[in-house]
Amino acid sequence: MSPNRDYKDDFQHKGMRRKLIEVLREKGISDEGVLDAMNKIPRHFFLDSAFDKIAYENRAFPIAADQTISHPYTVAYQTQLLQVKKGEKVLEIGTGSIYQTTILAELGAQFVFTIERQKKLYEEQKLFYFFRNQYPNIKFFYGDGFQGLPTYGPFDKIIITAAAPFIPPKLIEQLKPGGIMVIPVDEGEAQRMLRLSKLEDGSIKEETFEEFSFVPMLTGKNQ
Ligand code: SAH
Repeated sequence: MSPNRDYKDDFQHKGMRRKLIEVLREKGISDEGVLDAMNKIPRHFFLDSAFDKIAYENRAFPIAADQTISHPYTVAYQTQLLQVKKGEKVLEIGTGSIYQTTILAELGAQFVFTIERQKKLYEEQKLFYFFRNQYPNIKFFYGDGFQGLPTYGPFDKIIITAAAPFIPPKLIEQLKPGGIMVIPVDEGEAQRMLRLSKLEDGSIKEETFEEFSFVPMLTGKNQ
């Protein structure tokens, strides 16, 4: 969320958002639940008001602590792969702007646990008061996503929204049998989007999708 803004969603924002949904459809996003959630959540609320007129372009924008809000296409793509169902327990690594988090909550997750390692961004959850009544199912944590949240797991779904240098073993442990993890893996410019499905016998099925570019997943917390 951005500290520097009001929370008005006028007809221009709504119109720009509808156009963005069409762009996402043309680019191959077909999950109507994901498209509906993205049509409902005002992305501009999660950005500085300086970006209001361009908040619905398919691009990343800077947020605090030198981080970025993901491209809408990336958010849609990862969310579509995650296949969130009502009542599920979801873990997100990399809260950032809280935009992706809100989409997950809108899809009906019982709980969305979200971890951020940047103190400054974690503290922006205080600005989420605007949505707090609407999404009481979001739980914010300041910590290192490589560790996951062992006391709250296991999770039905895990989504990593930063470039992971490898698949974090603790996150695999915290995935339920039958669960899905969506994770961009590789250091450097581009990451392969992986979908890992934990089968009932505990083995992992791996599928590889398009390449994306994320900010790095780093270890430890940053004050
Ligand atoms: N879902 C966010 C993505 C923000 S960018 C959005 O669309 O706004 C990725 C975020 O992951 C950054 O905020 C970064 O600080 C955070 N991050 C990186 N490494 C992390 C880690 N080990 N644990 C938790 N968060 C991490």
